[in-house]
Amino acid sequence: MYLVRIETTFDSGHRLLDYDGKCAFPHGHTYRAEIFLQASSLDQRGMVFDFTELKHRIKAWIDDNWDHAFLVNSRDAELIAGLASASKGRIYQFQGENPSCEVLSRVLYNVVSELCGVSPAKVRLWESLDQYAEFDGGS
Ligand SMILES: [Zn+2]
Repeated sequence: MYLVRIETTFDSGHRLLDYDGKCAFPHGHTYRAEIFLQASSLDQRGMVFDFTELKHRIKAWIDDNWDHAFLVNSRDAELIAGLASASKGRIYQFQGENPSCEVLSRVLYNVVSELCGVSPAKVRLWESLDQYAEFDGGS
């Protein structure tokens, strides 16, 4: 089995609702996303997937949606209203879910599946240097 991995980083703000800890406050992270793709055979180019093409598609989506944006729970009316009053606020809403590292890894897994037409083996999302969440689609 072949396994390839790409990574990309992005900066986002967020906060968690119904949470008793520092992440209840609006703050930011430099996230590092690792996307793993697996295949038992290679294409005619000798590749699982073209790294350059894969990175381009994923980075473009992240740039358009999450990078330098606030990732918010759609129930967080207070933060959404505050950001809406800013002249240059970018918001990405998660419907009824907290923008936790686990949720982000699952959403990114599904985005990669749609962008590439193949489900990744897993997505690992680092929220800091010493903690990450993974989603593998149950495979
Ligand atoms: Zn956080």
